[in-house]
Amino acid sequence: MTDMSEISKAPPPELFTLTTDQWTKPFWEAAAAHRLVAPKCGCCSTFRMPPTPFCPNCLSQELEWPELSGQGVLYSYTIVARAIIPEMAAHLPYVPALVELPDAGGVRLITNIVGAPLDALEIGCPVQVVWDDRPDGVSIPCFRLVRTD
Ligand code: ZN
Repeated sequence: MTDMSEISKAPPPELFTLTTDQWTKPFWEAAAAHRLVAPKCGCCSTFRMPPTPFCPNCLSQELEWPELSGQGVLYSYTIVARAIIPEMAAHLPYVPALVELPDAGGVRLITNIVGAPLDALEIGCPVQVVWDDRPDGVSIPCFRLVRTD
């Protein structure tokens, strides 16, 4: 049974190796500088996440990478409280989530909610980006709950 007052952690960094391509590299370069960006069509201004070669609206390959506020809304989440491999045991519980980014046309980012009491998680609650700086120089955008009381 999970103690719902526990604070959410981040998954272990050593289990994740970042690889990029021409479509994802700008996102991770900005993240390393603690800037949250999202791909926006250079022709019709439609945001898309994850980055893709073609705009789903107009098929253009023109891309811009505007910086976002880092504010989001918790769209969906789950609580991982059981280690499916031993290396995860010290990193539980953690909270994989979908965060909607209102200033990027409502696209959703797959991320983790960190530093949050599990019983405070609620669909629709405001969240703010925080950066998980890994030893290999990669910074992962995670989100924390924004207190509204
Ligand atoms: Zn477009």
